[in-house]
Amino acid sequence: MHIVVCIKQVPDSAQIRVHPVTNTIMRQGVPTIINPYDLFALEAALRLRDKHGGKITVLTMGPPMAEESLRRALSFGPDRAVLLTDRTFAGSDTLATSFALASAIAKIGETFGAVDIVFTGKQTIDGDTAQVGPGIAKRLNLNQLTYVAAVRELNIEAGSITVERRAEGGVQVLITKLPCLITMLEGTNEIRRGSIDVALNAARAEIVTWNAAAAGIAEIGKCGLKGSPTVVKRVFAPPPRSEKAFQIDLTGLAPDSIAATTIDEIFKRLPALEKELKQMAQV
Ligand SMILES: Cc1cc2nc3c(=O)[nH]c(=O)nc-3n(C[C@H](O)[C@H](O)[C@H](O)COP(=O)(O)OP(=O)(O)OC[C@H]3O[C@@H](n4cnc5c(N)ncnc54)[C@H](O)[C@@H]3O)c2cc1C
Repeated sequence: MHIVVCIKQVPDSAQIRVHPVTNTIMRQGVPTIINPYDLFALEAALRLRDKHGGKITVLTMGPPMAEESLRRALSFGPDRAVLLTDRTFAGSDTLATSFALASAIAKIGETFGAVDIVFTGKQTIDGDTAQVGPGIAKRLNLNQLTYVAAVRELNIEAGSITVERRAEGGVQVLITKLPCLITMLEGTNEIRRGSIDVALNAARAEIVTWNAAAAGIAEIGKCGLKGSPTVVKRVFAPPPRSEKAFQIDLTGLAPDSIAATTIDEIFKRLPALEKELKQMAQV
């Protein structure tokens, strides 16, 4: 069993600032974290290895500083880390990102053994398009299971996996054939604390580092800005809401009239809301 987990290094969400001139996210000097969704994907992979054995490779595409996030990921216990880094990949949109990652996953399969499952997070907290996982699955012709909340069963003999998928109105139970790609939701498991030994090994581990050529990527035109039909035009913080919060004085009111008074006071200040809600109630 060989599992690949894609992790992305992202700016620590609490520190995200937009450059006033270039309208891009300022990454210089901003603390980075592993995209939270990807930690749940990594834990899901580690639990499958606990139960069924096999190897786990974590993969990231990013600038050389992304090695830091790979070392952090290694401290949770996967077997190997691959850093795909090359200036060629700069400015990649999701199409170019999924191309580069799919190519690297194919190379990982050739080099370290056929890949049975690819895990990604559902989305990142910076680009947050949720497009890269399905893009990789399409390019590698993998069955894909998205918005997965839990892995129910991996049947290696039958070559199948059963998962719970969170969908509107409930949970779907899906089964598919390996090899497959799974996009993992946030908060779907408890991430383990790596042991001291594992953390020390992670600090010393050799990180496999590939540029485009080493990853077997010949079609450079599909990478980076060149390979990106989507250009992020402007990133901006939404304008702060203008309405001020207001206080409703409920002192001395009988408990059973508090709700009605509150609603009356709100409608007095927001008549449009009253109209909208009344219309909705008639539908
Ligand atoms: C604010 C902002 C807005 C953007 N808007 C768009 C847009 O509308 N369209 C567009 O095409 N691009 C957009 N981008 C660029 C986009 O972020 C990059 O292409 C990025 O590499 C992948 O997209 P994502 O972050 O949305 O990933 P998602 O599709 O949300 O990521 C899903 C999963 O894929 C894996 N993954 C994603 N990136 C990597 C990586 N580099 N290495 C390893 N695993 C990875 C992770 O497991 C992640 O959880 C935007 C970037 C920013 C910062």
